[in-house]
Amino acid sequence: MSTALPEDFKNRMKTQLGGQYASFIESYENTPVRSFRLNICRSEGIDRAHLSRIMAGSDTPDQVPHCNFAYYYDDAAPGKTALHEAGACYIQEASAMLPVTMLDVNDSGQKILDLCAAPGGKSTQIADLMRGAGLLVSNEIIPSRAQILSENIERMGVANALVISSDPQKLTGRFGGFFDRILVDAPCSGEGMFRKNPEAVSEWSIDNVKMCSERQDMLLDCAVSMLSEDGRIVYSTCTFAPLEDEEAAQRFLERHPDFEICEGPVKLYPHAFRGEGHFAVAFMRRSEIGNGIVSGFSPSSVGRRNAAKPLNALIDELSSTARENDRKRLLGEWLDNSGFSTAAGDCYDRILTFGDSIYLAPEYTCDLSGLKVLRAGIKLGTFKKNRFEPDHALSHCLTKDDVDLYLDLPNDSGEIKQYLSGMTLNCDKDMKGWCLICVDGFGLGWAKAVGGILKNHYPKGLRQG
Ligand code: SAM
Repeated sequence: MSTALPEDFKNRMKTQLGGQYASFIESYENTPVRSFRLNICRSEGIDRAHLSRIMAGSDTPDQVPHCNFAYYYDDAAPGKTALHEAGACYIQEASAMLPVTMLDVNDSGQKILDLCAAPGGKSTQIADLMRGAGLLVSNEIIPSRAQILSENIERMGVANALVISSDPQKLTGRFGGFFDRILVDAPCSGEGMFRKNPEAVSEWSIDNVKMCSERQDMLLDCAVSMLSEDGRIVYSTCTFAPLEDEEAAQRFLERHPDFEICEGPVKLYPHAFRGEGHFAVAFMRRSEIGNGIVSGFSPSSVGRRNAAKPLNALIDELSSTARENDRKRLLGEWLDNSGFSTAAGDCYDRILTFGDSIYLAPEYTCDLSGLKVLRAGIKLGTFKKNRFEPDHALSHCLTKDDVDLYLDLPNDSGEIKQYLSGMTLNCDKDMKGWCLICVDGFGLGWAKAVGGILKNHYPKGLRQG
């Protein structure tokens, strides 16, 4: 590592780690570890082993121990490929995958808040485990970072998220006792990221550790006021400072004696785990511990989608239907058959129209007035001169199995590069209508087939090269 570690930090770590200090310091000479998480929801029916080999650039990628379908990759691997653009995976640090595994997320329709969510690694991990059911509120206080969060939510094809940019203290008045699960992945002094992000070293000071710890106390208190009676909070940081980790947990229990630690604390060090530094602990109300926690995730139980009406037939019907309720009914039926309905009900009641645009809102949509909302569910499409155009966001919720017309291209093909750069592609002369361009099965964007040409509808702002 080129940047020197602060002396005050090293002295504290020496006391903290005792005999392990030498191996801890040695680990800074190693290259930071890289890893990614496959999109489990959308890779159902797709060869996941094949995907992981492409993404990892290895025939036998190593699995991240605490996260299903997450793998390590080496420096030479491609990283941000077309598969990445299609939302097949999220590049996420291995240790950072730990807190969500302690949040006890399932697909029963939970209401979950990710209070400090940008850029979205943990929010998209939570969404994957919710499998479209319930409501995920992803909040990020800094507007520019909230925009990146929103883009990642769209890229990964998350349909049940409300992305907002708000001060956590302002949220408490709106969401009192509302959430079943809250993740507080707090801003911290970032000691666990020193190897990966040397900038964090220059920003470090004893005063900053103290300032962070005070902000963390405030964030945890906000979380408590928004938690349901039997809810669970996971608190995490990417630092080693006890003041921000174990002592923050202790202070929390002193301020809230009705709570108890129900899992953890877990602290990951780079010399003992193949990843960077992280800390996580889970809390519940004392009276609720052991009461009906449905834990775990079983990918085998993901339901197959039924055959839906062909998308182009739906689009034709929508385009010749003027009444809003009829349009909603047609879209609702198609979405239900395409796997968008949840245990809580059909899609019809969640379809909202604003002018010419039509959206699918998450379950439990609440009063949004006064909130800075970047995304509420997904935009399904727009009526342009009465013709329905599917939205880019919808393409990222679909795979080739969901549509009648698709072009499935391999991740490294020249045509995929052509498509990503905004160029047209060739197709059969008799192909007609909206065509889902897929990369190894994953929806990447739309093209419109006319007279042997696929006209490119990949958004201009996302085009590459
Ligand atoms: N959970 C994210 C993920 O997995 O991608 C990483 C979150 S990062 C550790 C902490 C986030 O908290 C940052 O995006 C930062 O902008 C945000 N933040 C900073 N000050 C905050 C505050 N006062 N309240 C809430 N969030 C804050």
